[in-house]
Amino acid sequence: MIMSESKEKSKAALMKEKLFMNRKNGCVRVDAEEMKKADEFCEEYKNFLNQAKTEREAVIYAVEAAKIAGFTEYDYRKSYSAGDKVYVNNRNKAIMLAVIGKNGTHNGVRLGIAHIDSPRLDLKPVPVYEKNALAMFKTHYYGGIKKYQWPTVPLALHGVVVRKDGTSVPIEIGESENDPCFCVTDLLPHLANEQMSQVMTKAFNGEHLNVLVGSRPFNEDEESESVKLHILHILFEKYGILEEDFLSADLHMVPALRARDLGLDRSMIGAYGHDDKVCAYPALMAAIDADVPESTIITVLTDREEIGSDGNTGMKSTFLADFVADLAQADGEQTRHVLAKSTCLSADVNAAFDPTYASAFEANNASYLNQGAVITKYTGSGGKYSTSDASAEYMAKVRAILDDAGVLWQTGELGKVDGGGGGTIAKFVANLNADVVDLGVPVLSMHAPMEVVSKLDVYMTYRALYAFYMA
Ligand code: MN
Ligand code: MN
Repeated sequence: MIMSESKEKSKAALMKEKLFMNRKNGCVRVDAEEMKKADEFCEEYKNFLNQAKTEREAVIYAVEAAKIAGFTEYDYRKSYSAGDKVYVNNRNKAIMLAVIGKNGTHNGVRLGIAHIDSPRLDLKPVPVYEKNALAMFKTHYYGGIKKYQWPTVPLALHGVVVRKDGTSVPIEIGESENDPCFCVTDLLPHLANEQMSQVMTKAFNGEHLNVLVGSRPFNEDEESESVKLHILHILFEKYGILEEDFLSADLHMVPALRARDLGLDRSMIGAYGHDDKVCAYPALMAAIDADVPESTIITVLTDREEIGSDGNTGMKSTFLADFVADLAQADGEQTRHVLAKSTCLSADVNAAFDPTYASAFEANNASYLNQGAVITKYTGSGGKYSTSDASAEYMAKVRAILDDAGVLWQTGELGKVDGGGGGTIAKFVANLNADVVDLGVPVLSMHAPMEVVSKLDVYMTYRALYAFYMA
């Protein structure tokens, strides 16, 4: 039987349309042109992911892109006017970009904050050792990782070594096809009876995450630690560095994987470091594309979020408040009055509902791939501990901005109640007495060597930030 197309909708169907939230798949709620724009936006996003695996690399990318767009390095002694674009590079590990608004800071500033560090394996200060004729690097993991995910994944070495004379040596090995790569080894299943019967936290501990870096001795001399010597000799030849130079280095092992389209329909991107480059990149692009805003906008790409935001390049630092103070002073305003009137989108990822692990989520309040940017009213754990929880008033404002701009968005909690939890940098800005809510991209396999996002959601996060900046 064929249903007549002209059949009138029932009263209940009409009332449902009016009263219920629209939960239709986001892909059918946008037109083909919008979808094409999303795909195009994500092409350069993939380049960004490949170039910016660490916070330092993200800052290099951001400075270059900002300069091309007319941003200049901020000088607190200079005066700026509406439309001027400036940036502050904080120790090459965090960056702030501001576009001066028509009203300057008088009505507060608009903040977009995201983080550019991602979980990884950092080298210890004394990393190189030899055991049973194999040379290895000791690592200390950075951020919340499931340790079992990191063995047998090809790894690349990224970072800098700074010699005692202050000269800096950038290092990147393992990204090009011709480069060697590295890996953490794992035990073969044949001999893993004991390992496989252990709980995961015991089977893989931090001191297992040793990276294999060499196996041939320096020469035929019967010296001890000759394989280690060989590795140090290669590093000396290539970079002029000694073992003790590792003491003044920021070196990281990251997955040697390129960002790539995922799925037969190419609707998703699989890559290392989506958390939180997937919000940092849209925030950077929104700052670059922003014309002259009403209020001054500040985009912060920060470091150290994955380890609690402590330190001078993390959001617990005063660098943002100090910058706002400089801008406020130039306008004859008090910082506290500017901050109290300021609003912020804390752009960070949320956990996308994963049907394979459905029991970790509460389906009504989870975020989903392809439903657009996800607003997370609060994060935290154990009864909303350690989260700022955006007010009803501020949520209403943000909803209105997004709806007026036709941005596809959804809401989501971080997993089911008492399933675990987490936090973002929203609360640090809230503690400065500004209004904040989290908005970002839903991610599958968060913190794994390869994370997954939807292209449509990435683009909608850009559109959300842009609309917020220009509103
Ligand atoms: Mn994050
Ligand atoms: Mn994270």
